[in-house]
Amino acid sequence: MNITQRPSPNKYDGRKGWKPDMIVCHITEGSYDGAVSWLCNPQAQASAHFVVAQDGRVAQLVQLTDGAWCNGTSTDVGSSVYYGKSTLAVVRERKTNANYYTVSIEHEGVWAKTKGRLTDAQLSATIELIKYIRSEVKRIYGVEIPIDREHIVGHYQINPITKPNCPGSEFQFDAIIAALKGTGSSAGASGGSTTGTSLYRVQVGAYGAKANAEKTLADLKAKGYDTMLVQVGNLYKVQVGAYSQKANADNMAARLKADGFDTFITTQGGSAVVAEPAATSITVGSKVKIKSNATRYSTGQAIPDWVKDDTYTVQQLGDGKVLLKEILSWVNTSDVTLV
Ligand SMILES: [Zn+2]
Repeated sequence: MNITQRPSPNKYDGRKGWKPDMIVCHITEGSYDGAVSWLCNPQAQASAHFVVAQDGRVAQLVQLTDGAWCNGTSTDVGSSVYYGKSTLAVVRERKTNANYYTVSIEHEGVWAKTKGRLTDAQLSATIELIKYIRSEVKRIYGVEIPIDREHIVGHYQINPITKPNCPGSEFQFDAIIAALKGTGSSAGASGGSTTGTSLYRVQVGAYGAKANAEKTLADLKAKGYDTMLVQVGNLYKVQVGAYSQKANADNMAARLKADGFDTFITTQGGSAVVAEPAATSITVGSKVKIKSNATRYSTGQAIPDWVKDDTYTVQQLGDGKVLLKEILSWVNTSDVTLV
């Protein structure tokens, strides 16, 4: 495809050992030319790998082998862009700056006018661009970026507090994913998922006694890791994360080792022993709160932060959603907790 090179000085040299496996979509809140020129200006202290115009033009500002300054997360718990606020498990688990493992695409548009909806020319250019990015990342890093909504994401999923409307609720994620799967990679010939490969899990221990596994689980949780306890045969295994790319599992293993845990990487999962509290216990009349990491109502609109402070009464149960009486809004069941 035709990509204009407009190198920006705003970038990391390299990716601090990470390999890219996530594509993040943004909205420019301005014109294509304005965005390209601003993101090349050292004063901006911001950039993106690519910018896609509404007429389908594409510029590249940062090479895929470098990190752009577009959707960073902080390791500071008090920061509004703390990684722990992301709605993506992968971002929370990696506990590092999301700019290291992402490829960012800015899309020309103004949210108040378009809510992120791409023009036809822009949508086809973005689909072609993502195909190109996936093939380049495969060629350079040997990494196959999965075609799903955990790896082709919006900025709002990474920084829900600061960027709830980037790129906007009308952005055509579903169309992009359908197009990528339809004409798919060579791996998609069977018509099934192209992401059906095994996941790499970092195992921290395997125990005959459940109590010992639970102790390790508690130690990990105390240090902030998202862990799970699974049972394989008569062994209880403590695992951290599930990664499509081995390099990222390696990275997590190194981090755990630095924290004093013995690890090895396995593709064997197992059945979960510790289940989430059953959401089915929510019934009409239940008192619930909206989770702090929830971003959107079931209808797609953004949930303002202040709404999350109050307790609400469930008035009606829907398919995977609940109607909250006091705000007369449908919220996904997964986004509420019983109080
Ligand atoms: Zn953004």
